[in-house]
This record gives sequence, C-alpha cells and structure tokens, in this order.
Amino acid sequence: MSCEHGRLRKKNVLGAPVRFLARLAIGCLLFAQSGCLSACAAPPQQFDGSRALKDVEAQLAFGPRTLGSPAHARMVDWLSAGLKQAGWDVEVQETPLENGFTLCNVVASRGAGRPWILLGAHYDSRFVADQDPDPARRSQPVPGANDGASGVAVLLELARILPQHSGPGRLWLVFLDAEDNGRLPGWDWIMGSRALAAGFAGDVEKPDAAIIVDMIGDADLNIYLERNSDPDLSAEIWAQAAELGYDQWINQPKFQMLDDHLPFREAGIPAVDIIDFDYPAWHTSADTLDKVSAESLQAVGDTLAHWLAARGAAAKEK
Ligand SMILES: [Zn+2]
Repeated sequence: MSCEHGRLRKKNVLGAPVRFLARLAIGCLLFAQSGCLSACAAPPQQFDGSRALKDVEAQLAFGPRTLGSPAHARMVDWLSAGLKQAGWDVEVQETPLENGFTLCNVVASRGAGRPWILLGAHYDSRFVADQDPDPARRSQPVPGANDGASGVAVLLELARILPQHSGPGRLWLVFLDAEDNGRLPGWDWIMGSRALAAGFAGDVEKPDAAIIVDMIGDADLNIYLERNSDPDLSAEIWAQAAELGYDQWINQPKFQMLDDHLPFREAGIPAVDIIDFDYPAWHTSADTLDKVSAESLQAVGDTLAHWLAARGAAAKEK
C-alpha cells in the first residue's frame, strides 16, 4: 500500500518542529495499520459542494447555453479560462455539423500513462422546453440548472481540487456539446460525445474508463444503477459512495439511458452514466437553480474524487 500524500507532506515541512513530524508519522502508521486504502488515497483537498453550486449559478447567469447563442460562446470561453487557471491543458475541439452549426467539445487533460480516466458532462442546453406543462413555454430554451450545469459544476470543482501528482496516470475532463437536442429537426441526441468517441474507434489507444455525470444536482437526489452502463465499473463507484455514507446512491438498477456514455461503450471503453432521471423539471422551464443543492453536488463530486484517488493508488501498487 502506498501513502504518497503523507510522504510528500513530510518532505515539505522539513523545517517544522519535530513533534509535528512525529504526529505525521504516527498518522501515516495508523492509516497503514487500519489497512484503509481510501484514507491514505484521499485527495488532499475536500470537494466543496457549495463552491460547485456557485458554478451552476454562474452558468445560469449566461442564459441557456444553446448552440449558436452568445451564452454558448461565453460558456466555452469561461470553461477554457477556468480550466487553464486550475492548471489543465485545454483544447477546444470543433466539429462542423450537417445542419450548419459547429459543435465545440472542451477537453481538459493532465498527466500521462495508465490508468487513463475520462470524466464527462454535457454543457449545452436544450433548444426547447418541450415537456413544459404550459404550452406557451414549450418553445423557450431549457434553463438547464440540473440538465447540463450540474454535471459541469462537479467537473469544474474536481478540476480545482484534484492533486497534480496523484490519482490516475492520465485524466481527461471533457465538457461535451450538443447532447440535448434529440427529436428536433436536423438534430440528434449525444452528438458531442459521438464526435469525441469517433477518435477512439478502431485499433487506437483508449481510456480505461469513461464516467459521465448528467442531472446529478437535484436536491431530491436518487442515483440508481443505469442499465446501459458497465456493471463492474458501476459497482466500484457505487461501493465508493456507500463507503463514504452517501445514501443518494442506490445500488439497484432503474433507468436505461441514451446518454453520452454510449459512444464510449461502443468504442470498447468501459463507461458509466451517473444520472438521476427522476426529475419532474426535466426539459421544462422549471429546471432552475432552486431545484439544485450543494449537498447533491457534494455526494457526487466527493465520491468521484475518492474513487479517482483509490484507482490511482491501486495502479501504483501494481
Ligand atoms: Zn436533457
């Protein structure tokens, strides 16, 4: 077992009093005795759900992030700037579409080697709130507080807290465009992930896992196992949530989703969709900030931070 953080910290405090060093050593020994992998592998900074909630708010302030809108363009700039500031390499991948629009996937990357983990969330908003109970509102765009902004907020907070030199070998945070316009003329679902996953088709190097988060900010959060997801990878992540005591994760299958995980699975990559599809405001004008809670963002982000740390630690032990 490795206790990388303890060792690194010790090096950094060489000038500090001996008592402090001794306490650190005892702490590390206690971790070792308990055999608790996730305790030693825990990220040094805590995921902060309330900080993530502020990022949901910031996205809503742009307005609906529909393709071609000024809000969508501002969103791409804001994502790129924030990720660069947090120390990530950022690439905006443009794909022209047959309908005349251009989709923009934002890919932040860090590290090298194995495992190679991809975390993704769509950032676009649906053009129309066609599930709205009020017919007069069905032609308006969806605000997308939960459907879009919540997953992005979790990834952005992870971008800030994840340690530079532990966790998986290579990590990609991908902000996917054009997920949410299915059943509209000239559009389809999951166009951004299809464009990105096309690069993993055939005999090329592929990520070891792809995790999608979508609609995970609902204050009444119940995340069931999703039936199109890789079962082994799902089991790992749900077990991590249970170990942390997050009962928003329910270890039973419920929905079968057409979501951004499918193109990665089709490319031969184990992929999971983390989604709570029990959301009455789905594709309505009521998908607003008041439906999303910091606690729910915390339950998802903290689970992923710990799972990444454990996965990285496990790889180093091999
Ligand atoms: Zn949607």
